[in-house]
Amino acid sequence: MHQRHTPERSCVVCGTKMAKRDLVRIVLTPSGSCTVDETGKLAGRGAYLCHQLACWERAVKGGRLAHSLRGDVTADDKARLTEFSATLTA
Ligand SMILES: [Zn+2]
Repeated sequence: MHQRHTPERSCVVCGTKMAKRDLVRIVLTPSGSCTVDETGKLAGRGAYLCHQLACWERAVKGGRLAHSLRGDVTADDKARLTEFSATLTA
């Protein structure tokens, strides 16, 4: 049963492994801004988060995301990510 391989990724906070399309990709673009990659095609270092609000809080406020992306997450980025997380339904 290997005809259709579903790419899997893990949430950087809770580590839950699931299909890539069920996670949200956050990318640190070459210009240094941190953004939600809804197409999954943006260039840059990426990190995946599941839809649990608790994971977003830990990723954004707890600094887990900056660690995974090995870059800075600015206050503007944090505001944008927090805004996005408010639209998620767990
Ligand atoms: Zn998670």
